[in-house]
Amino acid sequence: MKTITQQKPFEEIIQFLEREQRVYLIGCGTCATMCQTGGKPEVLEMKGKLEEIGKEVTGWMVISTACDSLTREALEEDIEAVQRADAILVMACAFGVQTVAQYVEKLVYPALNTLLLGHEDSPGHFSRICIQCADCVLAQTGGICPIARCPKNLLNGPCGGSEGGKCEINPDLPCAWHLIIERLTKLGKLDKLEAIVPPKDWSVSFTGSPPPPR
Ligand code: SF4
Ligand code: SF4
Repeated sequence: MKTITQQKPFEEIIQFLEREQRVYLIGCGTCATMCQTGGKPEVLEMKGKLEEIGKEVTGWMVISTACDSLTREALEEDIEAVQRADAILVMACAFGVQTVAQYVEKLVYPALNTLLLGHEDSPGHFSRICIQCADCVLAQTGGICPIARCPKNLLNGPCGGSEGGKCEINPDLPCAWHLIIERLTKLGKLDKLEAIVPPKDWSVSFTGSPPPPR
């Protein structure tokens, strides 16, 4: 399980850095390395691309886990090069970007888009496992998430378009509801789907509510 990230288009990154001449690069040795979006090879590739367009890369590092509080100590180890930069480009998930921002008095830009929590089925191919909706329904669905795995986020699937166990939206994906029914049938618990459950509370999800009190 890891945070799945995807590199932003280079054109977008150039726009961020339009007014920044000197850039420090930070990668992450955990999720972004495994996603091949912010490990050492990607950081060095980014360095080359930035230098090609005339930017000065004052330094770079791949922090073992960029979202960890030890990031502070890691930054201290190369603080001179960090301080010489006009901005920091972080090739880590949004958590890593915000962790770096917490410890450096510089503009910090994300080089990646943070997609979801998931796992890698094969290099570059990921399954969505959880989108952190904050009102988990797995108790009703045999431990398979219909929010993350059904493109329509259906809580009462299947939608009718499923064919041969595949999703009508993307036939490369298994239909999440097919998987749920198959699993509950195997466990002899299909009657779980007959229970009347209250509507899901979307107000607690990050898209439907203000941040929780601190
Ligand atoms: S129901 Fe929500 S919290 Fe539970 S696995 Fe799915 S997305 Fe994650
Ligand atoms: S086919 Fe299955 S996974 Fe695809 S949208 Fe319909 S219910 Fe959801």
